[in-house]
Amino acid sequence: MTAHEDLNLTDASAGAGSCCGHAPSAAALAQTPAEEMAECQVMAGTPVVKADAEAAGLYRDYEGQRYWFCCAACGPRFDAEPERYAYAA
Ligand SMILES: [Zn+2]
Repeated sequence: MTAHEDLNLTDASAGAGSCCGHAPSAAALAQTPAEEMAECQVMAGTPVVKADAEAAGLYRDYEGQRYWFCCAACGPRFDAEPERYAYAA
């Protein structure tokens, strides 16, 4: 049994409570250093690969802090209520 074949976190999770079901694959997460990761503040608990989010425009700079989002639905939500989603200082 390999450790790589039994992960089904991508398409199958589309209706499982995430805003869009989009998240980095478990394999991608496993090889991404922690400092390259962020958590989506809009969909709390959703991991985001910073470089992927930036490449897709899924980030905002707010009060000197950068926020990365898991999908295109989260940017507008952050824009609407940035103080709600910003990190607690
Ligand atoms: Zn999202």
